[in-house]
Amino acid sequence: MRDQKNRYRPLQRTVCIVLVYLCAGWLWITFSDAVAEAWFSDTRMLSRVQTWKGLLFVLVTGAVLFAVLLTQFRRDCSLIKLQQDQREALRQRERQMAVLMGNLPGMAYRCRFDEHWTMLFVSEGCQDLTGYAPDELVNNRVTSYASLIDAESNDVVSREVETAVAKDEPFSIEYALRRKDGQTLWVWERGRGVDDDGELVLEGIILDISDRKALEEELSELAIRDPLTGLNNRREMTHLLEEEVARATRYNRDLALLWIDFDHFKDINDSFGHAAGDAVLRNVSHLLLEGIRTVDSVGRFGGEEFVILLPEMGVEEAYEAAERLRQRVYETPIPLDTGESVPLTISIGISVFPQHGRTPESLCAAADKAMYRAKQSGRNCVVVASAPAEAHNS
Ligand code: GH3
Ligand code: MG
Ligand code: MG
Repeated sequence: MRDQKNRYRPLQRTVCIVLVYLCAGWLWITFSDAVAEAWFSDTRMLSRVQTWKGLLFVLVTGAVLFAVLLTQFRRDCSLIKLQQDQREALRQRERQMAVLMGNLPGMAYRCRFDEHWTMLFVSEGCQDLTGYAPDELVNNRVTSYASLIDAESNDVVSREVETAVAKDEPFSIEYALRRKDGQTLWVWERGRGVDDDGELVLEGIILDISDRKALEEELSELAIRDPLTGLNNRREMTHLLEEEVARATRYNRDLALLWIDFDHFKDINDSFGHAAGDAVLRNVSHLLLEGIRTVDSVGRFGGEEFVILLPEMGVEEAYEAAERLRQRVYETPIPLDTGESVPLTISIGISVFPQHGRTPESLCAAADKAMYRAKQSGRNCVVVASAPAEAHNS
């Protein structure tokens, strides 16, 4: 409406000015002629006066035209200068944006809020991040961005974005992304919903955080792994034991615990050195790990003492499993880094939930006691915790 008004304004103004000019000309000609004729009766004089009168009219209208055109041209010049300055400022901002986008460690984007995450714009970093050139992702020309998101993360990502957009808040999400070359990387995305001429679009940045994720995974692995053998450490084993005891209690199932100690291990250290002792610890760890089921867990409790959890195993089965492990170690000469190999035997104590204890502590105490009895019985043997009266049921 306002635009329409503005469009007609120059025409109205021009028509007004021309009308004023025509009226002034008509008035001037009519009245000046009448006045001249009244004042000068001599026809020669009258003719000269009319010539001067015409000249005066041309001079005055010329001066007015000069003033009007000068003002208009000056205004045009300052408008053109303003436009040039604005264009230059825009170009400079575009250059700065291009440098900024080019140096982003990930990619900036604008996309539709649809199930494909249809990209309307992606920065150059798209190539490094996804392996796809910007042109291939924009308008889903080769593939849609949504299809690159790890299938497991897709629902969570959509939910979080929808929730944030509904609250008109920014969102920060982490998810796995499949690159063009098939490689998977972890990304962090921060964005928000923006109104783009009535259409809701998402704008934000996506950064590669694979290194940080790998470090986090390494740290959480370190927190639960024994660095020498790679088995669960004492903390993780205690945690697993608590979980298994809770499960066995809830479902009223058996749970066996094997407490293993190497026989005369000190002699190996004394004869071959501490490093050789470490190699033996590593190799026997592998033997133990290979000798158990996938549902079982094995961990190093400290020194050369190991604990194995056998869910849903009663006394007899646990005894057979322990006996198999003992036999396996007994029959396998343990190789050292020097190329030599040493014989090794282990002593195993067994406690079973619920016969020998109903808590992690009482089960450990009963198995440790049984292992001590195995040592007293000459080592290289398996002993089951004795009658409940002897065990620390609590
Ligand atoms: P026993 O049959 O009575 O168990 O005799 P043992 O010599 O094995 O005696 P004990 O279990 O008390 O000794 C454990 C030895 O294990 C003592 C220590 O030097 C050694 N040891 C503990 N931790 C490590 C380790 O990380 N590396 C090496 N190389 N040796 C260790
Ligand atoms: Mg020991
Ligand atoms: Mg020992």
